[in-house]
This record gives sequence, C-alpha cells and structure tokens, in this order.
Amino acid sequence: MKEFLASLSASELDSRCAASGFPKFRAAQIGQWLFEKLVPDPEQMLNLPKDLRRRLKEEFFAPSMKIAEALPAGDNVTKLLLELHDNEHIEMAVIPAGDGRVTFCLSTQVGCPVGCRFCASGRNGFRRNLACGEILEEFLLGCGFLGRRCDNIVFMGIGEGLLNCGELFPALERLTDQEGFRFAPRRITVSTSGYVPGMLKFAELEKEFVLAVSLHAPDDATRAKIIPDPLRFPVAEILRAADTFRERSGRLVTLEYTLLAGINDAPEQGEALGRLAFAHHAKVNLIPYNATGGEFRRPAKERIAAFARAVAGTGAVVTCRVERGSGRNAACGQLRIDAERRGADAGERSLNTPNEEKSK
Ligand code: SF4
Repeated sequence: MKEFLASLSASELDSRCAASGFPKFRAAQIGQWLFEKLVPDPEQMLNLPKDLRRRLKEEFFAPSMKIAEALPAGDNVTKLLLELHDNEHIEMAVIPAGDGRVTFCLSTQVGCPVGCRFCASGRNGFRRNLACGEILEEFLLGCGFLGRRCDNIVFMGIGEGLLNCGELFPALERLTDQEGFRFAPRRITVSTSGYVPGMLKFAELEKEFVLAVSLHAPDDATRAKIIPDPLRFPVAEILRAADTFRERSGRLVTLEYTLLAGINDAPEQGEALGRLAFAHHAKVNLIPYNATGGEFRRPAKERIAAFARAVAGTGAVVTCRVERGSGRNAACGQLRIDAERRGADAGERSLNTPNEEKSK
C-alpha cells in the first residue's frame, strides 16, 4: 500500500527527496506546506516544480480522504463525514468554544470493537484501524475546513484509540514534533473506555498528554450493563493504570461519566464514584447522556444535580460537561451509520436494476 505524505517527519521528507534526486530545500518546502500552511495536497504546493508535485501525487496518498459532508450538529458544532480511500467513512467534529478557541474531535478507528451500549460508533462493528497518516489527514482536512489550525485536539471520535497505539502514538509524535505540527501535549486529550494495556503503554510515553477514562460506573456490575465483554476491564485495574499514567506523565486523569437514567445516576453511585476519584487524585467529568433513541435515557436535571452534589461531597473535583451539539447528527458515529445505510440502499437498488430490466 502507498504511504501517506502527511505521516512523514521533516527528516523523512529530507531523505525521500534526497533519494529521488531532489535538492534538500524541496523537502523544507514540502514541510512548510504540511506543517505550517497545513496543506496536504501537492497540487496546491505551488512553489514546487510540476514533476515533483506529480511524483508526490503518484507515490503517496496525498490526501487519501475527502470531506463527503459537513453537517451542523447544534451549538455551532460541525460534524464532518470523511470518505476514506477504501470507501469507508469516519467522522470528526469541529467544536468552537465561546472564547474563540476551536477543538477538533478526531476518530482513530473505522467502527469500534468495544461496543459501548449507548454509542452509535460501535453499533455496526469494527472494520479497521486508521493509519497514522489518516489520523493526521483528519487533522489537516479539519484545518482546511476551519481555515486555520485548531487549538485543542481530543481523540473522542469513532474508535478506542488505545487499541490502535501502533498508529495513534506515531500520530501524536508528529503532532507534537517541534519540526512537525508543534502541538503542546497538554492540548491533546486521548480518551479510552478503560483499555488497561493501552493505558499502560500510553503512560510509558511519559508526556504531558491528557488522559480521559470513560468509567461510567463505580462498580463492575453496573459497568457490565454499559460496556460489554470482552474489552471491559475491572474498575480496580483501570484505576491502577490511571495511577500509573498520573505518576509517569505528571498529569491528573479525568474520569468521564456518562449519566444514564436508572442505570448509574443514583446519589449513592455518585458518592462511590467521588470516593474513588478522591483516592486516585482524579477529576470527575459528568456527561448527561444525549438521548438519540435506543434503550438509554438522560436523567432529569434535579437527578443530575443531586449526583454532582454526591460526588462533590466526597471532596472530589467534579465538573458537568455541557454536551456540545445536540440532536441526531451529534451522536458519535451516527453520520457514518447513515452513510453506510445509504451505500447499502444504493447497492440494493443497483442489484435490483438488472432484475427489473429483465422483467420488462
Ligand atoms: S464510546 Fe468510544 S469506546 Fe465505546 S463504543 Fe463508542 S467509540 Fe467505542
């Protein structure tokens, strides 16, 4: 398979240009387009000679994906449906904050093998990991859409990123490389459903990235109602791995907690959560469920407030995230499912056509 131009480091650009007989300054020019002007397409790299642009286009994916749809998801959030080179789809979100800063929410896999019961992303199963170059192209296409680089990146889109460490970690390296995209690690959050082996590998990087762990329950029995086997780890193991991350990175871990009515929203569960968070020096972030149909419901406002008070009563730090985006388009993975459904409908139509013709 072809390489992704976006995944090359500055020194790799140097060596590839030298090997192809192009002078060193051409590598610096390509690097400028990629890392500073955030342009992944050689056709737009106008100070490069035509033959170099042509060769880059032929020899690399540059870029390998395109924006298939941009849809408003409420609260000024835009969801981008991205079509990949093998006709798979992923999503990313462009999330502006009131202070002018913009966060990109990026995907790491096509589909998700974890299959949390409230999440659309896992519903159609898992297809494949995204390559490092594809993760970086998501970022670059988002920058092209926005007209500038974003301020923060969260890996909370489709997929369990820490099941794809082999591609996610090199992407993090490129994003934070001082000769690359020069992002501060503390502006990048990686979210996990509590995949312990990945959390331990992430800790080994010893960088100041932010780790957000979706705990969703203070005990294993409740968690089993939300996250199915076999990728669910015991709460105690997850918290031990979170401790290891805090010790190695020097960063406090956030425990994400999606509040689901009648499942995990009792004040006693809030108290148990708070005690765990306090003991493990973790912050708690409550996310009232954004109901889009299905078996789960968002708790009533008073219930959410009582839960937050129960957490805070233990001394733990707790915030309640105002979910950005609302309605159908906001549900993570929903656009991809819609795109697949449209593709399947089109396939059925094209299969039907010859029969219809035959019957005429
Ligand atoms: S919430 Fe995250 S880990 Fe769970 S199924 Fe959805 S994408 Fe996967």
